[in-house]
Order: sequence, then C-alpha cells, then structure tokens
Amino acid sequence: MATLRCPNCGRVIPANPRIRNQTHCDLEACQKERKRLWQRRKMATDPDYKANQQECSKAWREQNPGYWKEYRESHPEAVERNRLRQRERNMARRKIAKMDTSSPVSEVMPGTYYLVPENLPVIANMDTSIRKITLVLMPYEALPSHARVIAKEDSIASPTSRF
Ligand SMILES: [Zn+2]
Repeated sequence: MATLRCPNCGRVIPANPRIRNQTHCDLEACQKERKRLWQRRKMATDPDYKANQQECSKAWREQNPGYWKEYRESHPEAVERNRLRQRERNMARRKIAKMDTSSPVSEVMPGTYYLVPENLPVIANMDTSIRKITLVLMPYEALPSHARVIAKEDSIASPTSRF
C-alpha cells in the first residue's frame, strides 16, 4: 500500500486513495497547515484571488472596527512574536541583498600577475627573472585533463608560485 510522509507532523501514513495529490495527513493541525500553504501560494500566483481576498479583509475590518487593536492589547505575546518574526524576515532580506552585491568569492582576482621567485632579492631584477602569467579562477574539475596534470606538477615542482 502506498504511504506518504506528512510534511507537517512527519508521520508516515497510508495514502488515502480517494484523495488525489494528497500531501498532508488528516490531523486537524496538518489540514490547517495545508490550507494555509495553499492560500499563501494562491495569493502569490493569482492576482484576482489576491485582490478579492484583500477586498474581503477590508470589508471585514470596516465592519469590525478596533478588532485588531483590541486583539493586540489583549495578546502582547502575539505582538512580540510577530515583531521577532518580522525582524528575522528583515534580517534575511538584508543578508540576501548583501550577497547580491558582486563581491568576489576569492580575494585573488582574475587578471595578469607576475610569477616571482620567492628568493628574488631586489624588485629591480624583475625584468630578467620573472614571467607574466594570466590567472583565471576556475575549479580544478573544470580544467581540461592535460591542464590538470600541469597544475598538479606545477604545485609540486615550483613552491615559488604563491599568490
Ligand atoms: Zn500530519
């Protein structure tokens, strides 16, 4: 018999063959969560539904003036919980915004570099003893196989090529 794991309570339950696309078990809390998720997705994807819901909410608030003010005054713990949740959402959003600014993953930037022997005594000697190389940042796996061998040999043979 087919089973499914309820994402809300984590229980593995036999699937009900009469329910198509069943996701949650039949516990009241899990059904509430399923409906909440459905509505959230509907609000995000269906502009007509969203406008209609907002219209209903507005009408309800107008018929029940002061309800939320009273609720907040009599449920300070809910107000505090919401405040903390909102702060977490704000922080998460700021973190994502920060990541979007194209800060380099590595501190070594791609570009043209000089390969300088470690024991080079004077910088003035550079002209004769150095090679110019171009650094391309690329994961080792992305290198063509012949380059991999070179990369390996280089790292063993020339301890001077440090960046
Ligand atoms: Zn459940």
